[in-house]
Amino acid sequence: MEKNTVKPRVIKNYNGTELHAKGWIQEAALRMLMNNLDQEVAERPEDLVVYGGIGKAARNWESYDAIVKTLLELENDETLLIQSGKPVAVWKSHKDAPRVLLANSNLVPAWANWEHFHELDKKGLMMYGQMTAGSWIYIGSQGIVQGTYETFAELARQEFGGTLKHTITLTAGLGGMGGAQPLAVTMNDGVCLAIDVDETRIDRRIETSYLDVKTNDLEEALKMAHKAKVEGKALSIGLLGNAAEILPLMIEKGFNPDVLTDQTSAHDPLNGYIPVGYSLQAAAVLRKADPVGFVKLAKQSMAIHVQAMLKMQEKGAVTFDYGNNIRQVAKDEGVENAFDFPGFVPAYIRPLFCEGKGPFRWAALSGDPKDIHKIDEALLREFKDDEHLCKWVRMAQEKISFQGLPARICWLGYGDRARFGKVINDMVASGEVSAPIVIGRDHLDAGSVASPNRETEAMRDGSDAVSDWPILNAMINAVGGASWVSLHHGGGVGMGYSQHSGMVIVADGSKDAEVRLERVLTTDPGMGVVRHADAGYELAIKTAKEKGIKMPMLQQ
Ligand code: NAD
Repeated sequence: MEKNTVKPRVIKNYNGTELHAKGWIQEAALRMLMNNLDQEVAERPEDLVVYGGIGKAARNWESYDAIVKTLLELENDETLLIQSGKPVAVWKSHKDAPRVLLANSNLVPAWANWEHFHELDKKGLMMYGQMTAGSWIYIGSQGIVQGTYETFAELARQEFGGTLKHTITLTAGLGGMGGAQPLAVTMNDGVCLAIDVDETRIDRRIETSYLDVKTNDLEEALKMAHKAKVEGKALSIGLLGNAAEILPLMIEKGFNPDVLTDQTSAHDPLNGYIPVGYSLQAAAVLRKADPVGFVKLAKQSMAIHVQAMLKMQEKGAVTFDYGNNIRQVAKDEGVENAFDFPGFVPAYIRPLFCEGKGPFRWAALSGDPKDIHKIDEALLREFKDDEHLCKWVRMAQEKISFQGLPARICWLGYGDRARFGKVINDMVASGEVSAPIVIGRDHLDAGSVASPNRETEAMRDGSDAVSDWPILNAMINAVGGASWVSLHHGGGVGMGYSQHSGMVIVADGSKDAEVRLERVLTTDPGMGVVRHADAGYELAIKTAKEKGIKMPMLQQ
């Protein structure tokens, strides 16, 4: 990664009702940028790293300072352009245009690989934006926890009669996203054994109540997991160690989990995966001294890891890839059958995408948890007939601690997002909540991503690699008046493997915001329905027809 010449500092988020910028949209962008880098939210704020390997919020500290200054000065009819984390221009636009447009980590396809990216990153010309890191709508592990919960809930429905009770889920990676796994498993009443090579990550999940206990002893971990499984108790155990070493040891000992996955940052072999036999410190030294050698060792270790997963799958573990591209790396390393276990989207999530459902979220710019609790109540009122959703909200209230600005994740679909956007805007207008609310989503959404090893794996019509869709999604959201819109490459699965777009819109209680919210919260999930209807999914076709979405070539 590029060196910063300006000293890192502790980011203190703005909150409260006082405006620092010239409008609430600019203020929202500023607060969400700062929130992404809040000590409680980001994985390595001193390096501007938010999550997912080296997913950053700004290219370097100079760029960060310039973005903050520009947002403070930005007029209500201007648009700031960000190129891979660096502010490059301010143009006159109009009041309903996005206040910020961002393009992060995009490379022309033939150059789109980590080697070329790292060259540019070293020269200070690029930044890896991951998904919500570079588009300023990361809300900590909560942002992924509902998706993870929904994934395990669907797996439980398909495989275990609707619950993970009396099962053990084995996984690795307790980072920004992966840290949601233990909580999602215990929310589904199961036992989770989660391996991480970095003890600070394990401790952080314990501090935020995502994880129950930790150990560095494999025997002890297996004993605890087995006891909880037999007793039908929900329990999550963090096990310190390297997954590529521990999985083969488990096989030797005759242990086989019921469910198996992985969320190490395998998408980024240089920064996201520690090779077998290396401590964190030794890995850091090797990464610097011999990056090529490091990548080679990391990839070899991933191949061992995947081979062990395949063995456990053979012995009956329900196994799936959790969106980090580890199968591809293993395949490139010669593990021919690496794709024998499926990705989580085709296995568990695609039906939700067909109805435009995905990781929708909102954050309270006031910083006041009461604002989120009031919106929770409105949600429970508005969707009182949706039992699954109400269960989720109640559970989230009880089990999820806020990180940085209070926020809520809620997988709403087409129609419901626009409806609830108006409810939120009305609450801001009436003063029921104390400051404007930011509404956004992950790029891992129904119609905003092309990622053939993840969100668009095994599309019915074979259109997995077609990336026109996220581009259309970004364009229609910008035209509709989203507050900031981003177009990224390489998120989730690494350079060369994905293109995706982000969208954030501010509910400031104004009439203008009401109109923009209605437009954008319709087109954004609508693109998910359209993308899947076009690919031939019956549920998406039915949704498009029932909701009256105009698709010129869909048979009516
Ligand atoms: P992160 O970089 O914050 O965390 C990765 C964790 O893996 C770290 O804690 C690290 O110590 C650990 N690790 C690395 N090598 C290891 C090894 N050999 N054995 C055990 N632990 C090891 O990343 P994150 O934000 O948690 O994301 C994890 C992965 O999931 C990424 O590839 C990301 O792109 C992907 N992802 C998945 C989803 C999803 O919905 N499933 C969403 C976003 C991202």
